[in-house]
Amino acid sequence: MIFWFRRDLRIEANDALAEAAKRGPVLGVFVLDDELWTPSGPNRQWFLAGSLVDLDRQIDGGLIVMRGEPDRVLHELADRVGARHVYATDDFGPYGRKRDTTVGESLATKGISTHFRSSNYVIPPGTLFSKSGTPYKVFTPFYKLWITQVPGASPTDPDVHWFEHGNKLGDGIPAPPEPTASSLPAPGEAAAWDRFDRFRSEIVKGYNQSRDLPAVDGTSRLSPYLKWGTVHPRQVMDRLGDHPGEQGWIRQLCWRDFYAEVLFNRPDSARWPYNPGAAVETDTDGDAAARFEQWCEGQTGFPIVDAGMRQLAHKGWMHNRLRMITASFLVKDLHLPWQWGARFFMHHLVDGDLASNNHGWQWVAGTGTDASPFYRVFNPTTQSTKFDPDGEYIRRWVPELSQLGPKVIHDPASDPNGAPASYPAPMVDHRDERLEALARYAARKND
Ligand SMILES: Cc1cc2nc3c(=O)[nH]c(=O)nc-3n(C[C@H](O)[C@H](O)[C@H](O)COP(=O)(O)OP(=O)(O)OC[C@H]3O[C@@H](n4cnc5c(N)ncnc54)[C@H](O)[C@@H]3O)c2cc1C
Repeated sequence: MIFWFRRDLRIEANDALAEAAKRGPVLGVFVLDDELWTPSGPNRQWFLAGSLVDLDRQIDGGLIVMRGEPDRVLHELADRVGARHVYATDDFGPYGRKRDTTVGESLATKGISTHFRSSNYVIPPGTLFSKSGTPYKVFTPFYKLWITQVPGASPTDPDVHWFEHGNKLGDGIPAPPEPTASSLPAPGEAAAWDRFDRFRSEIVKGYNQSRDLPAVDGTSRLSPYLKWGTVHPRQVMDRLGDHPGEQGWIRQLCWRDFYAEVLFNRPDSARWPYNPGAAVETDTDGDAAARFEQWCEGQTGFPIVDAGMRQLAHKGWMHNRLRMITASFLVKDLHLPWQWGARFFMHHLVDGDLASNNHGWQWVAGTGTDASPFYRVFNPTTQSTKFDPDGEYIRRWVPELSQLGPKVIHDPASDPNGAPASYPAPMVDHRDERLEALARYAARKND
């Protein structure tokens, strides 16, 4: 029996692995597929390599890592060990679905059967439908049904007898590249549970208040572990209770399932607007590339935007409120395509996930499901005053402004002593760009 690990890099609470283990000794394999590895960016590659080291340790050094196209690699491995069955947790993303069909058909020609089971979601995409029998397009009704359908039983803890292969197989775990971030969360199951324990004991009860304050350690920071399946979301839910903070967190977790559901039903929305009729004109010529660069480097002259972009650069992670603020600035103040920002995020985020990222971007751009209407334009300075009132988050990430007090830090030009010379002047006038964004919105409506 081959068990093909993909985005479920854990042993416990793994239904597909449990099913494989019931049939006999299991050979655990991870295929390093260049189609996925190359676009992952150094931070996610580093985290993945560390997660594989942790998984390998749990299998007593028995994890086989092979580089290449999955169907070729799995053929080769099945031949060498005489395996007749390949098990894996099901994948619902556009690339994963195509790959699994190819692998299934290709292995079947040799009489090897593939079994894609379960999911890395609370409820697998493609399960829930609206009353009219169509896939959900709006979050709240999806959530209302989802919360009533959470399976009663948790994923199964497998009892695995690992196949002895004498370590003669595979290419080994890749040497991790140097991350672009200066510090990243520790990979692996134990690190995930350490973080969860802290979240549960110190943070979750205040989650509904703290989740929007970027200066505070007020969210779970479990996103990279959920991304790679180091933990299953059901394992986390099962350890939470009925406190409003815990329930608020579970509602937020549902967005992950929702966006996976949306992408499952509309694979094209990974790259193209979910709602093409809502897309407005964007700038791609002239100085667009230079303006994009300023945004990427956190040199826009808007402290809260720059703080977010610099947090991403240093941590490979950005607070959710900042993901919204920085994305809105790119789309509605700079009028650049959301796809540029989404690609940049995907390169740097340690939790980068196609469904959550690209639909998060489309929500901001007004082209997605539940779209925040395009005419609702975030004012970066107001957002900053509201969610970072003392300027603590800005001071942490934009040291040029560390001496400024809470009154002027959100808008350094308002400092009677003048803005620090080392900090750039605002690259745009937000009032003008808001009007420009609204004009583009009106032009689209009149098309
Ligand atoms: C423009 C943009 C891009 C984003 N890109 C990603 C991404 O690539 N990967 C990613 O995991 N999340 C993404 N998000 C969603 C959200 O910002 C992160 O999930 C969250 O910041 C992760 O931190 P946390 O684990 O502490 O979250 P918590 O607040 O503790 O939330 C718990 C979990 O719920 C899920 N979740 C929470 N909010 C969302 C949301 N809005 N959409 C989808 N899932 C959510 C995540 O799995 C998260 O780990 C994006 C949001 C925006 C606006």
